Amino acid sequence: MSAAATYQRSDPFDPAIAPRLDPGVWHRVLTHVRLTHPTLNRTWFESLEPRQLENGVIHVTCDSLAQLNFLSGQCQQPFNSAAQAVTNRLSVVMFHCPQLRAGGVMDLAGEGGWAPGDGAMPLSPDYAFENFITGPGNSLAHAAAVAVSDNPGSAYNPLFLHGGVGLGKTHLLQAICQRLLDSRPDLKILYLSCDAFINQFMNAVQSGDMNNFRYRYRHADVLVIDDIHFLKGRERTQEELFHTFNTLYQQKKQIILSADAPPNEVPELEDRLVSRFNWGLVAPIEKPCFDTRVAILRTKAKLRGLELSDEIIQYVAGRIDTNTRELEGAITKIQGLALISNQGQGGDEIDLALARRALGDNGQPDDPKRITIEAIIDAVVRYYGVKVSDLHSKKRNRSVAFPRQICMYLSRRHTRYSLEEVGGYFGGRDHTTVLHGVRTVKNLVETNPDVAGQVKAIEQQLDAS
Ligand code: ADP
Ligand code: MG
Repeated sequence: MSAAATYQRSDPFDPAIAPRLDPGVWHRVLTHVRLTHPTLNRTWFESLEPRQLENGVIHVTCDSLAQLNFLSGQCQQPFNSAAQAVTNRLSVVMFHCPQLRAGGVMDLAGEGGWAPGDGAMPLSPDYAFENFITGPGNSLAHAAAVAVSDNPGSAYNPLFLHGGVGLGKTHLLQAICQRLLDSRPDLKILYLSCDAFINQFMNAVQSGDMNNFRYRYRHADVLVIDDIHFLKGRERTQEELFHTFNTLYQQKKQIILSADAPPNEVPELEDRLVSRFNWGLVAPIEKPCFDTRVAILRTKAKLRGLELSDEIIQYVAGRIDTNTRELEGAITKIQGLALISNQGQGGDEIDLALARRALGDNGQPDDPKRITIEAIIDAVVRYYGVKVSDLHSKKRNRSVAFPRQICMYLSRRHTRYSLEEVGGYFGGRDHTTVLHGVRTVKNLVETNPDVAGQVKAIEQQLDAS
């Protein structure tokens, strides 16, 4: 890596002056981490470079900023404990990455870059293009993401990715950032969650520091904001984003956004933002098909150094068809159970029976078919042709109140939310109102075939979705 040349010879982890740690010791540290924290294990741990220094500090260099983020964000304690257990001394492990300039500020944004913790999200090395599996549901989004990383500002601007939860939006956004970090270190990349953008905007307003805020966002080369649907109803933040967008767009700076729905369907988003978000490429990400699920499971297992037979992979892929995050959860469960059952170590295979047990005898992990309030609202809105915002509102006319009561009834029947929680969801109503709504619908279902038919039709939609 060329950036390594920027090190001063006095750097404590300069390979030229720091003695290597005994490979046997390091191997035991890694093994310890793998055993105590199997889900943290990554195959690239093998490429970490450990150096021993006095004072019990083991300096470890890794290959990329994303790896550094993962190590210092999630692995610090496990590695410290492992080092202490193995050396019997009070050792600590310090992670370094040659791409990171001395001083420790995460330099994603060039000058004035952010420090970890100031609202920017850490990048995960798991979320690289190499680990992203393409299939019919995501190939357009993937191709567009690659194109944008190769030609920021000119391929598709803005790039807008949308899809349900756990389908890979964040993965692709991070993959773009990581590829750009590697190929275009000159670029100032700002990558953050929509929440962070909102918070930073509000802080800037409160502290009267708008100039700094604007300077920062309007001088980015690449602006990446994840989960833009959280802008819902945030008028002032939307206005600020509108101006930021215009400034960046005019200068041909790349803008990349993600949301849980296409621009026109994000609720309470200003029309002028909707129209701008549609200027570039809007690419959907859909649920992975069986073959894609199989490939994803293989990649994820391999990434964690876990051996799973084809039989188990096919079993899991057949069992879980909701989203990729659930697939990962299944791997974690299998890995956990294998560990305590002493399977899958030292060459023996994890057997299908164990996988079945890990995912629960009577169904799927966390019951991915579980009906959510969102699904209920969705079905009710479609059935009665009302607006989602009306269901959440205080409006009491029957054309809105009745569908809302149906929602309450179905929420109580199909989800585990309490009366209070359901009330909170629908316009902050108290539990007696919810109880009344539930009872009203229940009586009607028992006495009025018309209403019973409506409820049944909606429930069928829920089962089908
Ligand atoms: P979202 O942001 O859309 O909610 P994420 O990007 O966080 O979803 O993805 C959830 C998990 O699924 C992550 O661990 C991600 O790596 C994984 N994932 C999603 N899609 C894919 C894919 N096509 N290939 C490999 N992993 C995927
Ligand atoms: Mg996400």
